[in-house]
Amino acid sequence: MAYKLTFELVPEECWRANLRALLTQTEWDIVRKDAYKRSGYRCSKCGTKGRLEAHEVWRYDDEKASQTLVDVTALCSACHKVVHISRTYLVGEGEAAEEHFKMVNGCSQADFHAELRRVNEEYRRRNEVEGWTTDMSWLVKKYNIGLEKPKKI
Ligand SMILES: [Zn+2]
Repeated sequence: MAYKLTFELVPEECWRANLRALLTQTEWDIVRKDAYKRSGYRCSKCGTKGRLEAHEVWRYDDEKASQTLVDVTALCSACHKVVHISRTYLVGEGEAAEEHFKMVNGCSQADFHAELRRVNEEYRRRNEVEGWTTDMSWLVKKYNIGLEKPKKI
């Protein structure tokens, strides 16, 4: 089943492709503020108004071992914690994230566990693959922000 809000586990090899660290503060502000504007200043998953966070959305091609940036979206803190569930468990906020997942998706605890198992399995498979490539051309197309030269934070 496809859930409105789910977990997005980035393969370990791709962790260095962190937009926030690759862009200058000014560039990151352009990207993140545009994401908030495009979602009408609401969380793109649950519709909550208020403080928003920017989330990088990647598409994976498992056969080509490529990771492509396809969007940066606005998320409320609760949804963002669901998306990054592993990190959320580590900081001891897993239970609240489980509740939020069930509420937004209108599903049961069993559904939650089944989806988490599915995504963890996908993550395990992707971590066995070496040589992931990262495509961030979305940034150039949308904002004319290039990443040819290394950027400092
Ligand atoms: Zn939300």
